[in-house]
Amino acid sequence: MNRRPLAQVAARLHRMSIRTRLLIAYVGLLLIGFLALTLVAGSQIALAARADYEQRLLNEVRLVQQGLRAVLYGEGWTEESEAALAAQIAEYEAHLNASIVLHALNDREGPQPRGSFREAPEMETAIRDGVVVVQRDDDQGRPALFTAVALGDGGREGGQAVVQLSVPLENLTLLITQRWLLLLLVLAVILAVTVAAALWVARSIIRPLYTLRDSALRLSEGDLAIRVANPGDDEIGAVGRAFNEMAVQVQGMLEEQRAFASNTSHELRTPLTTIRLRSEALRYDDSLDEATSAQYIVEIDEEVGRLSSMIEDLTLLSRFDAGRAELGHSEIDLVRLAVSLRQQHLASAAERGVTLTLIAPEAIIPIRGSLNHLLIVFRNLLENAIKYTPKGGQVTWTIRQEAGGVRSILQDTGQGIAPENLAHVFERFFRADRARSRDVPGTGLGLSLVKSIVDAYGGSVTLESAGPNRGVTATVFLPVPPAG
Ligand code: ADP
Repeated sequence: MNRRPLAQVAARLHRMSIRTRLLIAYVGLLLIGFLALTLVAGSQIALAARADYEQRLLNEVRLVQQGLRAVLYGEGWTEESEAALAAQIAEYEAHLNASIVLHALNDREGPQPRGSFREAPEMETAIRDGVVVVQRDDDQGRPALFTAVALGDGGREGGQAVVQLSVPLENLTLLITQRWLLLLLVLAVILAVTVAAALWVARSIIRPLYTLRDSALRLSEGDLAIRVANPGDDEIGAVGRAFNEMAVQVQGMLEEQRAFASNTSHELRTPLTTIRLRSEALRYDDSLDEATSAQYIVEIDEEVGRLSSMIEDLTLLSRFDAGRAELGHSEIDLVRLAVSLRQQHLASAAERGVTLTLIAPEAIIPIRGSLNHLLIVFRNLLENAIKYTPKGGQVTWTIRQEAGGVRSILQDTGQGIAPENLAHVFERFFRADRARSRDVPGTGLGLSLVKSIVDAYGGSVTLESAGPNRGVTATVFLPVPPAG
């Protein structure tokens, strides 16, 4: 079989719009189904019409039989009887739209047989007192339906007569053609309604796809606020909702990036301004005394320290963002790490009048990771707990092994976090108390870095607070082995 035409048809179908393809499939299938149905129904109707027509002929011939018998075998045969008979036959012919012939069989007084009926099965049947409808050609060679019935002899010996009735087949063919036409008309109407319905269905399926395409194009042109309105509940609606979610994410991400860029430049500019003011004063202000100069140099030093730690944090954050940060796999004992961190911060805590308690098991708790990353996480959380806890407060650090990982809980009795700020603490550059942010050292990047690192290792970090002055609980869970 030559496959090329088929492949060409498939390729052409592929280039058509979904709407056209749906329509072709739908209407094509319906057409085949309806045509098959029409053929079956049509032939049945034709058969029934023929049977009906033949039955009508039989009824008519019996009617004629009754009428003619009355004339033939009434009062006795006279000249007037023949005229009456002819008139009656003519009336029937006109009324029934048929040809009627009366055949007298071997009658000496009555009408003589006209024509030959050797080739006429209906006549043979009639003589034997039966009745049948036969299709055959008439005297002019045209197809016709014939039937005949015996009239009896009316009690006269040898007065047997047969009436023969015929109608051209054309009459029946016309009737059947009319039925076929009616059927085809109904088929055409149903098909037209179906095509209209198919068009409507195809349109209602395709329209949301066009809306979706337009929305995607507008999004790609930078219209981030674009959403698919009323996406609906069907499968295309699900795609619409997924698009809307994607648009929300993209918009959020871009807004975050913009805010991040502007925050970064702002946060970098602040220490730079201080550095420039101080260095200009040191260079050009001859009236500066020695103590102030020394103080300015310390300030410059502090700002430079702030700048470099901020840049370090930003670099690490961008590495985690891009997925380029290398996760370490060294075995680290978390208990030892906590003991050492506590030791390092004991002095600063004591200076602020804060007690620092560590509750950890004796046994080692091994976790896999980079020592640098783990130090950033726990140092940030511990320094926050100390930094935001006023004199006389307590910081309690609990470490325990759990099924599937380790949990670190750092609880302080410090200033706590208001509920409206709690949702933002992991955002970059977020600081709850902006007004006092100069007094409390920090950049607002610590917690976002903690979250990026913990997430990368497949863990989780949460900050809870019952509200201002009710302390904070920072919980970190790290899976062993790390999922990241
Ligand atoms: P910062 O450098 O300001 O400490 P972080 O990202 O570490 O930045 O923390 C973000 C903000 O979350 C802080 O500015 C502070 O307002 C709040 N915060 C974090 N930890 C605590 C805590 N233990 N107690 C109270 N507030 C806290």
